[in-house]
Amino acid sequence: MKKCHKCGKPMKLIVEPYEGIVSEAYRCPKCKTTIFTEDQALAFGKQYQQKLLKEKYAKHPIKIGHSYGMIFPRDLVRVFNLDSKDTKLNIRADRAKNKIEITVI
Ligand SMILES: [Zn+2]
Repeated sequence: MKKCHKCGKPMKLIVEPYEGIVSEAYRCPKCKTTIFTEDQALAFGKQYQQKLLKEKYAKHPIKIGHSYGMIFPRDLVRVFNLDSKDTKLNIRADRAKNKIEITVI
């Protein structure tokens, strides 16, 4: 049971929209202090980032030397840390479904 750090009352688990995202949090019934646990904050953050992304991006492949590449939109770079040296992309191709799937690892 979470207790309010201001008044010591047991906090209630609430589920309500915040910034357009339905989110879990704890609220004190007395002083209305609202807090996110770490897990709740992470879940909110992921949903918020998802909201920033478009459903679909259409891009032409571009020729780079003898290979072809794809330009990633800026918001994808930001959300998936594509500008980090530690980021790797796994590519899986499914010819039957005409699909190339990229996973960020
Ligand atoms: Zn309180």
